[in-house]
Amino acid sequence: MDIRYNVERVLDRVAEAALRAGRAPQDVTVVAVTKTVDVARIMEAINAGIKHIGENRVQEFVKKHDFIPAGIKRHLIGTLQTNKVKYIVDKVDLIHSLDRISLAKELNKRAGERIIPVLIQVNISRESTKSGIFEEDLESFIEQLQLFDHIRVKGLMTIAPLLSDPEAARPYFARLKKLFDRIKERRYPHIDMEYLSMGMTNDFEVAIEEGANIVRIGRAIFGERYV
Ligand SMILES: *Cc1c(COP(=O)(O)O)cnc(C)c1O
Repeated sequence: MDIRYNVERVLDRVAEAALRAGRAPQDVTVVAVTKTVDVARIMEAINAGIKHIGENRVQEFVKKHDFIPAGIKRHLIGTLQTNKVKYIVDKVDLIHSLDRISLAKELNKRAGERIIPVLIQVNISRESTKSGIFEEDLESFIEQLQLFDHIRVKGLMTIAPLLSDPEAARPYFARLKKLFDRIKERRYPHIDMEYLSMGMTNDFEVAIEEGANIVRIGRAIFGERYV
């Protein structure tokens, strides 16, 4: 497993997809998804040019946190239980998985002086196994978030259905992009529609073509996960 080679290859593919979509390669942030990956391998990815890492579980996030160099940005990409907010609130650079008001309330309460940047997770495919706000509930959800001064919505995130053909994910990505643009046009004072986090190993090129500017990539960098 040559992690440096994998990172270079992923960055090339990201750049090509961005150019195909008429955008600059540096427009797209690659979050290397490090779940189940040990610190030594994470360091290989960082040495190869990775600047953002993402974990989906709080326990793993916290365990590795102190071993990762200070300038590296840390993303929490998985479902966040309300009772675990306190462990990460002072460590996380972007939470991708705001999916309920009770979580917003807890983040707001635990933020202290900070303002916590979050993405709202949208369940665009409406799969019962996935968390996230349904499309039709998004605007009322956003309105309710006005109450919370210590979180700042920076965009939207989704997980497309896992399909063997990445092309099959395209309509889901296109749909989230449309929603993203619509909310951006509303110019809510408490929202910055800056980031659209969609696309993983199987489908990141399609996601970028449809407007993603954050992609979350695990296996294409670190290989298959067997745990
Ligand atoms: C695991 C995970 C990823 C990365 O998946 P790969 O298929 O390994 O690229 C992206 N996003 C979330 C939310 C994940 O849990």
